[in-house]
Amino acid sequence: MNDLKRYIREVPDYPKPGINFYDITTLLKNKEGFRLTLDRFHELFADQQIDKVVGMESRGFLFGPPLAYDIGAGFVPIRKPGKLPAVTHSQSYDLEYGTDRLEMHRDAIEPGERILIVDDVIATGGTAAAAGELVRACGGDIVGYGFVIELSFLDGRSRLGGAPVSSLLTY
Ligand code: AMP
Repeated sequence: MNDLKRYIREVPDYPKPGINFYDITTLLKNKEGFRLTLDRFHELFADQQIDKVVGMESRGFLFGPPLAYDIGAGFVPIRKPGKLPAVTHSQSYDLEYGTDRLEMHRDAIEPGERILIVDDVIATGGTAAAAGELVRACGGDIVGYGFVIELSFLDGRSRLGGAPVSSLLTY
């Protein structure tokens, strides 16, 4: 299952010293790599009766929509503050220094809909946990979380409240 790792570019000390950045642009640009990634997600989620895939700005927008199309679901964007035009739910989350917020349209999800949350990387899990809160605020049923890459040493999955977490690659 680790064959996808060959498509990931690791960039040491980016964006700052001590951070190892996992760059998925090298996977996206490669036709085998991109297809394999979506095939893996398909195997995990095609049979889960998912109504909507939720993706976080901005790299969740690269994998969420093709996956949603593939499994016959809708796609819902979660965005940085002030980007969505209609009424939103808003959720703050902790950064290394300070906090930030994510927003989702209140009418994006109906109560009881089956939701899959997708992003490229789960690190500390703060972003994904905030996305989960936004889905719950609408009454959505979180079927699971899907990531291309999980940084397991940061144990982000422990912040996701017990919902199933699937990662294609673990570092
Ligand atoms: P977190 O909220 O800490 O789980 O961070 C997740 C978000 O930050 C994801 O949307 C990733 O795109 C990005 N991210 C965090 N750490 C890395 C990393 N080492 N390499 C690439 N992206 C990262």
